[in-house]
Amino acid sequence: MPPPILRRKIHITGVVQGVGFRPFVYGAALRCGIAGFVINNSAGVEIEAEGASTALEEFLRILREEPPALARIDALESTAIPALHETAFTIRHSHALAGENTPVPPDIATCPDCLAELFDPANRRYRYPFNNCTNCGPRFTILRDLPYDRPLTTMAGFTMCPACEAEYRNPLDRRFHAQPIACPQCGPQLHLHPANLTGDEALREAQRLLRAGAILAIKGIGGFHLACDATNDFAVEELRRRKGRADKPFAVMLRNMETLRLYANVDPGEEKILTGRERPIVLLNKRADAQRPLAESVAPGQSQLGLFLPYTPLHALLLEETPLVMTSGNRSDEPIARDNDEALARLSQLADAFLLHNREIHVVCDDSVLRVHAARELPIRRSRGYAPLPVALPAAGPSIFAAGAELKATFCLARGSRAYLSQHIGDMENLETQHAYERAFEQMRRLFHIEPEAVACDLHPGYLSTRWASAFASGNHLPLIHVQHHHAHAAALMAEHNLPNQAQILAVVFDGTGLGTDNAIWGGEILAAGYRSFNRIAHLKYIRLPGGDSAVRKPYRMALAHLHAAGLAWEPGLPCVAHCAQQEQSTLTRQLELGLNSPLTSSMGRLFDAASSLLGVRHEVSYEAQGAMELEALAASAEDAGHYSFAFTIGEPFAIDPAPVWQAMLHDMRNNTPKPVIAARFHRGVAEMIAACCVRARTLTGLTTAGITGGVFQNVLLLRLTTEALERESFHVLVHRIVPPNDGGLALGQATIAACA
Ligand code: ZN
Ligand code: ZN
Ligand code: FE
Repeated sequence: MPPPILRRKIHITGVVQGVGFRPFVYGAALRCGIAGFVINNSAGVEIEAEGASTALEEFLRILREEPPALARIDALESTAIPALHETAFTIRHSHALAGENTPVPPDIATCPDCLAELFDPANRRYRYPFNNCTNCGPRFTILRDLPYDRPLTTMAGFTMCPACEAEYRNPLDRRFHAQPIACPQCGPQLHLHPANLTGDEALREAQRLLRAGAILAIKGIGGFHLACDATNDFAVEELRRRKGRADKPFAVMLRNMETLRLYANVDPGEEKILTGRERPIVLLNKRADAQRPLAESVAPGQSQLGLFLPYTPLHALLLEETPLVMTSGNRSDEPIARDNDEALARLSQLADAFLLHNREIHVVCDDSVLRVHAARELPIRRSRGYAPLPVALPAAGPSIFAAGAELKATFCLARGSRAYLSQHIGDMENLETQHAYERAFEQMRRLFHIEPEAVACDLHPGYLSTRWASAFASGNHLPLIHVQHHHAHAAALMAEHNLPNQAQILAVVFDGTGLGTDNAIWGGEILAAGYRSFNRIAHLKYIRLPGGDSAVRKPYRMALAHLHAAGLAWEPGLPCVAHCAQQEQSTLTRQLELGLNSPLTSSMGRLFDAASSLLGVRHEVSYEAQGAMELEALAASAEDAGHYSFAFTIGEPFAIDPAPVWQAMLHDMRNNTPKPVIAARFHRGVAEMIAACCVRARTLTGLTTAGITGGVFQNVLLLRLTTEALERESFHVLVHRIVPPNDGGLALGQATIAACA
């Protein structure tokens, strides 16, 4: 007697669309002799499978244990239903399910199979810049809505030719049901403006122009890049001039690892991240002995370079020749350009020529940037390749919109126990960025079918994101939850580590600026934090921020303010004093003594600025954290060097006083101690101070987990020293691996706090 036929309904959620999941299910069904069907819906993937019980068990095992590389299964539910005695297994047409949401895969770098075709003269996709397959290509940026099917992507207008259609329909082909597939006959085409060339001619002319020193606007996967020859100092300087960007480093794209190694030292952990499917920009140590160095103006004053590898076929073809600066296609402070007409208008003064194509970019997504700490990712900017993968929340709460910060803006939409942090949007200082923010918000809200029931924002009333959130909340009659900035940083770290609802940690939150509950500008905080509340255990002693924001651009003012607060004289021989005109010194004295336009701050970012100016490294900055980055570069070159000591003032909260640090630094400077040694002693001093504070805080609270967060911890030297010091004191240490420690991760913390409220 044949074994009885059973039928099961299987529901799978997670990242299961746009990753070749249905073909995988189809293949598994064929292998096991299973009949039934698989279908995408906006809640995930649904399967009905029937066969003998051993076959069904094997089928389920394959689903659980051998999913495609890009898939991520969050849940698999299986229930018995009556058998229908079907004989075949089919992939059914998708339908949308109202009120559900499913994660969307990010854009994925070109896979080795597609690259091989690109350079194979016998292949029909030879030198075709839009080649992709089930395992690679654009996803998030071309998606208008779910489910993920071609008619809902910006590939809808390209009708597949018979050859592509055959691949798409063949379950044994690696392009089976790959939605964005294309070929030279039926897919997107290049166009070079103003030369009016198309196809390979456009590409070769673009390469010639780049070789000759021109600046090109190049349409990519999530927006435009501005590109020029990275070995041509003149071209790079010209790009800086046109973009209005003084010193901030440019990212450089290299052809492959072999070329990349000519310019940077790369360890195996870094190589793994550089060559991974996300293809972020990775900050790497410059090779001092490079044979043909990159132009000095690529990253002036830096010991690190932001390097990355091609992630589209177009890049792979373009990079055959020289390394290219590839920077966001915008004027400084504006969002990245998206469509052809917009780029032609907005970038006309910036680019000599435009390499365009006719596949529309629906969602703008900048390149991601990260550093490597202990062989793993430390996100600096989380965008292409990572967004919009969800983070699991500790509790399923109401649907939340969290507005994020002002600089490095991102927002977060949460529903159930999933939080979707948006791609990087930029600094919300102008109308263009605000429009980009609104657009991204509408797109994500629609894509994930999220109707916010509560809104979270920063305490700072002046942030454009706070104002927008507040208008959105009142317009939709929703509760508005104000979240203290540093509490949000702590919660973001806790959420990405999946800490449960009731968890508490000691959070070391060091950044530049965040409004405190006492109206001072916080930034050097040690909190005992949970999702619902926090207790401020310690902070950097308040000093005056002379002239408010202008002190941020002028670290010498911070050096003078710190010397003043420490009761140390402004000796004319000190570099920071010499940099400040006599007249300005009088004004500063008045501001500091009377507190005029000089709010109180515990900012650790400003402490690093002050140290950098005191040491004569950087007195004025043209981009955020420039002084701190240069100080880190200096310190990283020093050998083992001892440390400076902070003092502590008893109180609740207790205050961390840097006065002894400045005294010791001045002493070392007088004794001509090498600058790198002083910079290293400063870094070690901060790390030791953190460990000492946490030990004291552990005595007060009994908490044994220490979390390190805030923009100051983009500094990997400080992060390493701090981790070592805390681990020496037996703390369990948490650092960021999924969202940035800077304000780019803030919205996740706000959303988590609102969901747990
Ligand atoms: Zn591929
Ligand atoms: Zn085709
Ligand atoms: Fe912050």
